[in-house]
Amino acid sequence: MTTAQTGVTEYDARMRRAGRLSSEHSFAAEFLDFYKHVAAFQKTLRANIAASSGMKSRGASGAELRSPLDLAVLLPHFRGFLSLIEQHAPPALGKAAHQMSLLSSDSWIASLEAYWQHAGKYDQQIGAFAQFLARAFLQPYAEFRAALTPQPPMAMTVRVCPLCGSRPLMGVLRVEGDSGKLFLLCSFCSQEWEFRRILCPTCGEEAEGKLPVYVAEQLPHVRVEACDTCKFYLQTVDLTKDGHAIPLVDDLAAIPLTLWAHEHGYSRLQPNLLGT
Ligand SMILES: [Zn+2]
Ligand SMILES: [Zn+2]
Repeated sequence: MTTAQTGVTEYDARMRRAGRLSSEHSFAAEFLDFYKHVAAFQKTLRANIAASSGMKSRGASGAELRSPLDLAVLLPHFRGFLSLIEQHAPPALGKAAHQMSLLSSDSWIASLEAYWQHAGKYDQQIGAFAQFLARAFLQPYAEFRAALTPQPPMAMTVRVCPLCGSRPLMGVLRVEGDSGKLFLLCSFCSQEWEFRRILCPTCGEEAEGKLPVYVAEQLPHVRVEACDTCKFYLQTVDLTKDGHAIPLVDDLAAIPLTLWAHEHGYSRLQPNLLGT
């Protein structure tokens, strides 16, 4: 089993980063402290998924990313997950976890399977809050499946994830030469694909004057890249400005940017795990 399959270092890095950002930015501390509990659970679940897949004969490799969930592996962990959320989440989410824990395992399966089939593709109306339980629980599984799925040939400017067909969660600017290269990070399987800069990933607008950028003083390495044509925005973490950033985590801390975007009438194409 490789570390790419267990994801251990990845989850450790996310937890460390959440701790660091939480101590530096009190406005995001509540969210980030909760996220650390979620990431710790995800790390253990991912290791369990990788271990049980190793025991099966060749199993999932090469299969479709969204092929049916391995419920025999996943389901035994769901109750523990719900009680963790109940204990540590903000009240409304904790209550939702409690209500879910009272339902039958058939309802759990229905909710997990619905998320697994549609997430990132047709879920805009569902809202991040309603999705949180299935999304946080299945994220390690989606990331595990993505690590097993062969990368498709590189295509620039594809607006949905080439591995699973989901919409992007955010942008990531990675160091490349003197400036940076833009990647989009998938909202479902967390893989990245390259994308052209100065191009709206939602509607295809490419006139620079219609694509305003906003940066908040508190987090100079995170930017809102908005589009005045479709009124959607992409939040982008700029690793050329802060090489220690972990895009998935820094995005959760970027509350001032989200507020700015909403005040100015821009919507996010795909909300993050915590719905901001
Ligand atoms: Zn994907
Ligand atoms: Zn646009």
